[in-house]
Amino acid sequence: MQAGMPLYRPDFSPTRAPRRVSILGATGSIGASTVDLVRREPARYQVEAVTANHNAAALGALARALGARFAAVADPTRYKELKEALAGSGIEAAAGPQAIVEAAGRPADWVMAAIAGASGLAPTLNAVAQGATVALANKECLVCAGSLFMRQAAAAKATVLPVDSEHNAVFQALAAGRRTDLRRLILTASGGPFRTFTREALRSVTPEQALRHPNWSMGPKITVDSATLMNKGLELIEAHHLFGAAPDQIEVLVHPQSIVHGLVEFCDGSMIAAFAAPDMRIPIGHCLAWPERTESPAPRLDLAAIATLTFAAPDTERFPALALARQALEMGQGAPTLLNAANEVAVAEFLAGALSFVAIPALVEATVEAGIRHGLASEPATLEDALALDHAGRALARELLPEIAVKAS
Ligand code: NDP
Repeated sequence: MQAGMPLYRPDFSPTRAPRRVSILGATGSIGASTVDLVRREPARYQVEAVTANHNAAALGALARALGARFAAVADPTRYKELKEALAGSGIEAAAGPQAIVEAAGRPADWVMAAIAGASGLAPTLNAVAQGATVALANKECLVCAGSLFMRQAAAAKATVLPVDSEHNAVFQALAAGRRTDLRRLILTASGGPFRTFTREALRSVTPEQALRHPNWSMGPKITVDSATLMNKGLELIEAHHLFGAAPDQIEVLVHPQSIVHGLVEFCDGSMIAAFAAPDMRIPIGHCLAWPERTESPAPRLDLAAIATLTFAAPDTERFPALALARQALEMGQGAPTLLNAANEVAVAEFLAGALSFVAIPALVEATVEAGIRHGLASEPATLEDALALDHAGRALARELLPEIAVKAS
């Protein structure tokens, strides 16, 4: 997508020759779904590069199975392990954060950006700089540096396709009308495992409970984000950048069945919704085949068996993270970068048992406020600016953590 609009590349023909694909975050949940789809059609794809953070042995095995040319782990201490896992295969091994950026810049037609968190920003921007088609799962890239990211994508004539199921649904629904006739976008949210919990019950939620998502199987960070509704907040910001929609044109509806993923409403009152089984291989497959379509191994929907679909407004009293993200989006400048940095720190501390569930949004709120007070929140104009602001936001969140941990418990 460029400048908020889907871009059709007439020179693109997925049936012409094998597509060269790279998978950043290949050992994660989105990575595994992507690998599954690629392995089902070996004649259609040639794998260039795969990456992971620490998981060198698993990455080595994947690289071999996929016939990749290059494999990189971010953790430099895992280089030897990766090298051993690739011994005799002819696959090039590399390690360190710069090796991930290099992997993203290798010659590929299509790059899956599925690193979790702001660590995905530098590699994904490098994939964009090559003018590749980037299937974007890593929403934190757009939260951290959305304007910069979309500007660089447009400058490099890169194509950005939304992997997030809600944005992929909106992308598909937008094809039904003209952009100028668009009235609003609606992202649905399952409501997470604590949708019906009282404020009091939320105080004693454990990481184990938060990691049990009712509908989706995902990595730990996004699973916790789904439980706090911060995930939906990050998605609001993501939608703003992807589709060029104003903040007040983007709404959220709680839809516990996770069957309708996104809707668009046009000026004539017509609403177009995209339905699919909650299986990430559907939006990933859509991005892999785009602008064509291909068969999917994912389950099909039986709407008669599902029978009831329900929708409700989100409760931002019990789940303040969604309102915080909307505020950050409205504030603009560097506020979303600070929000994301603080949230990454808060989620990690919650998973480590150092912060309560209800303290996650409290720490995010305090960090954004303090960052603005300290004059930290100017718009990142370069990758270096975005990384520096992310770094400052994390430092601030860590500084505030002891106080918030006590106050919010
Ligand atoms: P996972 O935690 O399952 O996987 C993350 C991947 O990124 C792993 O390969 C991990 O390697 C790698 N990684 C983590 N940190 C770094 C780092 N610092 N440098 C390089 N690589 C790193 O996450 P998910 O697959 O669930 O999510 C990935 C992204 O996709 C997130 O941004 C998420 O919000 C988004 N997304 C996910 C969805 C889902 O259904 N899972 C749905 C929509 C969006 P290692 O295995 O070595 O740790």
